Amino acid sequence: MKTSNTVQPGPDWAIQIHGLTKAYGKVRALRGIDLQVQRGEIFGFLGPNGAGKTTTIRCLLDMIRPDGGKALLLGLNPQAEPVAVQARTGYLPGEMQYYDNFTVERQLRFFSDMRNGRVEWRYVGELAERLSLDMKLQIKNLSKGNKQKIGVVQALMHRPELLLLDEPTSGLDPLMQQEVMNLLRQANTDGTTIFFSSHIMSEVESVAARVAIIRAGEIVEVAETSSLTRRTLNRLTVRFKRPVEIGELSSQPGVQILSQDGGNLITLQVAGDMEPIVRALGSLPVLDLETERPSLEEVFMTYYQK
Ligand code: ATP
Repeated sequence: MKTSNTVQPGPDWAIQIHGLTKAYGKVRALRGIDLQVQRGEIFGFLGPNGAGKTTTIRCLLDMIRPDGGKALLLGLNPQAEPVAVQARTGYLPGEMQYYDNFTVERQLRFFSDMRNGRVEWRYVGELAERLSLDMKLQIKNLSKGNKQKIGVVQALMHRPELLLLDEPTSGLDPLMQQEVMNLLRQANTDGTTIFFSSHIMSEVESVAARVAIIRAGEIVEVAETSSLTRRTLNRLTVRFKRPVEIGELSSQPGVQILSQDGGNLITLQVAGDMEPIVRALGSLPVLDLETERPSLEEVFMTYYQK
């Protein structure tokens, strides 16, 4: 019989998590996680250090066993079919292990061999080139960032249906962070679903259509990235042709005057609906108007202050 606790495999879902729990001794790392990611999505998984992001991803790939709850990847149970799941997914762990005496090329060929001929070597070369990764260098001489690039290439090399990435841009300089995000966008355009954890709000904001925020082992929010930023405070800077009386502006619902410079220049903050303030401005001699949306970072901070 179908119950509300059953995770039904569905063709539209890349990830289905229901009631996932995991404790390490007394530490309750996951306290009942529910999350669904649709096929074709780029999904950001945000949370501070120790929130449970890595534990969630490891449970998904059956690298550790949860204490309770269920997870399905691409409709498959990773505990029952780990090989099938791993063949169709790409994974970038937080800390990759390499053979120090290998060159980058030998290490990547090693990863490629494990993929049983499903890797097109030319594509590996393209990925390495996009990331300015020199195949001839020895692993032991690589910087942290260059090691991270090998991890990114091995996750993408077999063009998986689903990518699970634990902080993919960790250790990379801003230019390379951007390039990795470009590669992810490209993979997504080619049909790959992407689930990635991150601390960097701006990169999540730039690529992910939806985000989940995890805090102390619990999902505190799942939302479209755009709605998360839209729903909070907007900042407005208005320049007037001549000094105005601001009484009517400050009495509008949700409006708070932040600064006022001689009556000509006003900065205000609007919570919620913008319509009343726009109407009130309509009767004033507005010269110029600028609006500023809060960044995901600001939104994220408000969650943590709650
Ligand atoms: P970060 O952003 O720092 O990587 P995270 O969100 O990935 O953090 P997890 O690594 O999943 O968080 O850790 C969740 C909690 O479980 C933390 O309190 C952590 O200390 C604890 N934990 C994780 N792995 C182990 C382990 N092997 N043994 C004991 N405790 C662990």
